[in-house]
Formats: sequence, structure tokens, C-alpha cells
Amino acid sequence: MRTIIEPFRIKMTEPIKIISRAEREQKLAQAHYNVFLLDAEDCCIDLLTDSGTGAMSDRQWAALMCGDESYAGSKSWKKFEAVVKTVTGMKHVFPTHQGRAAEGILAQTRVKPGQIIPNNSHFDTTRANMEYVGGQALNFLCPEGLDLTIDVPFKGNMALDALERCIQEHGVGQVPFCMLTVTNNTGGGQPVALANVRAVKALLQKYGIPLVIDACRFAENAYFIHEREDGYQDKSLLEIAQEMFSYADAATMSCKKDGLANIGGFFVCNNDEWAEDFKNLLILREGFPTYGGLAGRDLEAIAVGLMEALEYDYQVYRHATVEYLGRKLLERGIPHVRPVGGHAVFLDSKRFLPQIPPLHYPGIGLVNALYVEGGIRGVELGSVMFGRRDAQGREMESPLELVRLAFPRRVYTQSHFDYLIEVIEDVWKQRDQIPGYRITYQPKFLRHFTCHFESIRV
Ligand SMILES: *Cc1c(COP(=O)(O)O)cnc(C)c1O
Repeated sequence: MRTIIEPFRIKMTEPIKIISRAEREQKLAQAHYNVFLLDAEDCCIDLLTDSGTGAMSDRQWAALMCGDESYAGSKSWKKFEAVVKTVTGMKHVFPTHQGRAAEGILAQTRVKPGQIIPNNSHFDTTRANMEYVGGQALNFLCPEGLDLTIDVPFKGNMALDALERCIQEHGVGQVPFCMLTVTNNTGGGQPVALANVRAVKALLQKYGIPLVIDACRFAENAYFIHEREDGYQDKSLLEIAQEMFSYADAATMSCKKDGLANIGGFFVCNNDEWAEDFKNLLILREGFPTYGGLAGRDLEAIAVGLMEALEYDYQVYRHATVEYLGRKLLERGIPHVRPVGGHAVFLDSKRFLPQIPPLHYPGIGLVNALYVEGGIRGVELGSVMFGRRDAQGREMESPLELVRLAFPRRVYTQSHFDYLIEVIEDVWKQRDQIPGYRITYQPKFLRHFTCHFESIRV
């Protein structure tokens, strides 16, 4: 068959409403032109994030009812631990309430002020956690990853030569560990090849530096490897994931992504000393090590979700939805990152709105236009989110100005995507009218979540 259908049918529905354009203009002004400050019910298709926004399966809902809420050593913990060990093969498993809690404790236990943490691209919370303890979060994405137009299979790969130069420049003692984000969320949701994971590991081994995988989308990455990397066509997604984790010394995970759950995360590692330090802070911050800030029922839902994310038919359908939007944009000449990522389509705001200079935030202009036009909520990944300053404290431009439309898992159907394409096309036709923005209020960390904007009409 040519049509790839959703490999599920719908057993429960949730209404969405569409408010008028005038109402949306008013709501956006009240939210200080920052879509993070909108009420979710005022967004008719919410593509702000794929994090924790997925629909659970009947098997997950059934598992939820089996939640064992014992404080220590619950049955649900046993199930969770067994599944996480099956997938990652790691010795120590620690649940956390989200991925960032795992990152935060990792940073506080392993990073000293002034140390360097390389990554292909740090996610925003990862960067913030490393910087909060005085670390320096550096990105070494392969050059193809910075080119938004070339269609190559593994644009999330680490640049090995740049990574090695960094280690030599700063000295081995200054690099407590190196991270690798699969798929590379901030760089367009692009996958990392197993050959690259293996090569990164070999390089790090030479210097005795541990590898920590940011595994949020490990199953989507495994699917890309299955489809695109020689030698993996006959392997299951589970086998591919297992091989990937076999090269790592530790991993952080947000189960709100490929855990197919609405909350949760974990940290895994092989090193006993790392585990001991992690556990001590986990008890202080998150909870006893067999629940780590989660209810027993959450552990149940995640244990089922992790395995469902590795089902081949599910990944085929998921990637088909992303490909569908990508193909329609390509046909209309609307600039976006090629190839499309695993969990999202990234519009290229620089080429979409060339009249807006980077520090007038073209991404915010585009995000706000999509909301006013059709009630679509996306997110800027550009100079606002990555807001960096030079030594003199001047704001620096981000090399990429993207707008991410992230797809919640198993939530929207094809007609929602057709509506989305109409809205993007209408915004594209009126792109000359879209203004830039300036910031009128910003907090110290993670400013994009809560800052206020005003438009710059020129
Ligand atoms: C979501 C995400 C995180 C953080 O996880 P949370 O559960 O949101 O705290 C870290 N890294 C990447 C790549 C992510 O996508």
C-alpha cells in the first residue's frame, strides 16, 4: 500500500477549540508576545514540544493501574529497572522526575568550575545545568549539521577532529566527560550514526574520558540507523539501541520523549563511584533511589512506553508524519531544514524572514505569525533560546535561527497536518509584513521561557 496509516485507532478523544484571529491577537499581546506564556487551550494545534505531550497506549493505561506505590523497592520499580537495563545494558539505574534532574545531578556530582563539557549540541537544559555549576558547555557538531540545505543522512554526528583539538587544548583533566545527544534536538532533530558513536568512544578512550549519551530520542535515532546506515537493516530497533548504549559509560534520559510517557526520566551508568555520588544527591533532591521523584504508576507507564517506542511500525508511522510535512513545504519552496528531523520540522527563519536581523529575532517573528494566523504554537531555537554573550557582555547572534514544530507522539492526525500546512503557506505569502522583536524583560537563566517581547515596526 502507498498510504502509511496510523498503527492505532482512537479510543478516547479530547476536544480542541479554535478561537478567532482577533482573540488570538489579544491573547498574544497579554502573553507579552511570548508563546510560552499563552494558555494551552488558546492554541488549537500545539507543536511547542514533543516532550510529555504524547498519547499513552491502552497497555500503558492498564499498566498505570498496576502502580505499586510502596516507598522502597516497589514492584513497579523492579519492572522499570528491568526494562531500562534491557535497553541500555547499564549496571546502575536511577529514576528522576525529568531528564533535567538527571543532568543537574550529573553536573553537580561530576563537573567542577572551569571544566569543559563537549557535546554534538547541548540541549538548552543540559547547557544550563552545566553552566550553573561553572562548567563550559561546548558544541562540536559536524560541519554538515550547520548546513541547513544539504541532504545527508547523519547530520547530528560529532566533529571528531574539533573534539580532539578541544581535549588537547584544555587538557584531559579539564574534561570530566563528553556528551552525545541522539537525536540532535537543537541541531534539527538530526540523527547520529552508530559509526560516529563508535568513533567518538574510541577517541575518548584514548584520553580516558567517559561518554555520556543524552538519550532522549534513542528510539528515533535507532530507526534512522535502521533505515540509513549500512549493515543495520536486519537488526531490530532494540538491538541497535543496545549497541549504541554499549559504547557509553552513562546516559541521561527524558522519558517524556521516547519513554512515551507524560513525565519521568532516568540516569544510568556503569561506574560505581559515579553511581554512589549520584544516589546521594538523588535522595536529597528527587527521592529514594527506587522511585526518584516518580509515582509507582509513572514507572509502570515508562516501562511499557520504552519498549513501544522501539516498535518498528510505530517509528515508520511517526517518521511518515514528519516526512509528509517536509514534502509539502519542499513543494511550496518554504525554507526548512533538510532532511527533516525525527520528531520535528524546523523552519529556517533566516531564509523565511531575511528582512529581520538576527538580534531582532526572526524566529520570534515567525512563531508569533503562526500563532496569529492559525493558532499554531511552535518554538524559536535561535538567538533568544541560545542567548549568548561575548566577553564584553554584548549579545551574540546564534549561528542558526530556526522555528521548531515538534510533533507530540500519537496525538494529531493527517487532517491536523493539512491544516498546519495551510497556515504555514498563508504566513509565507505575507512574510514581508512580519515584524522583528526586542526583549523588554528577561531572567538570568533559560530566558526564552519567561521573557517579554515588543514588536519593532519599521
Ligand atoms: C527534553 C530534553 C532534555 C531535558 O529533559 P526534560 O525531561 O525536559 O527535563 C534534555 N536533552 C534533550 C536532547 C531533550 O530533548
